[in-house]
Amino acid sequence: FLGKRRTREDESKLPLLDMKVGDLHGVPVIVRETTTIQEAVVSLFLENVGHLIVTDEQGRLAGIVSRKDLLKVTLGNATASSMPVSFIMTRRPNIITVSPEDSVLEAARKIIAHQIDSLPVVVPAETGEEGDVKVVGRISKTNIIKMLLDTIAEE
Ligand code: ADP
Repeated sequence: FLGKRRTREDESKLPLLDMKVGDLHGVPVIVRETTTIQEAVVSLFLENVGHLIVTDEQGRLAGIVSRKDLLKVTLGNATASSMPVSFIMTRRPNIITVSPEDSVLEAARKIIAHQIDSLPVVVPAETGEEGDVKVVGRISKTNIIKMLLDTIAEE
């Protein structure tokens, strides 16, 4: 039904509309701010992901580092591999996140609007600091497409 014009009846069947991020998200791959760029590249390959979520020593979200971020800094700069990922990561407050209670539709919209591959799933951290969040998962384009395919297969 995804390709056809949607009726009101179809709307209730669209899983994106009523499914929550908390029902779908996967396990985040997390590194510390002090992790070196070399270690980060190794983690990308070992974990088979496109980006790493960076947290501080208290487990609070600090940033995110993607394939392109790593490629950019290492190209033509051999000494870069020993630098910490915190030098090159995209930092809070510029990180786009979702919470487990958000709809999958909301997550999909954020991914497309910001032209990124995935979002950290976060909840408020118990630090008392305004805006501090801890990471409980990640939701990616792949998660969402897989869920849509599973739904179609069930029909
Ligand atoms: P890739 O580098 O593999 O193409 P993306 O397209 O997801 O990965 O990342 C593009 C840029 O956006 C990178 O600089 C990355 O740090 C940043 N980025 C990735 N995910 C997020 C996010 N959830 N919030 C903010 N910035 C992000």
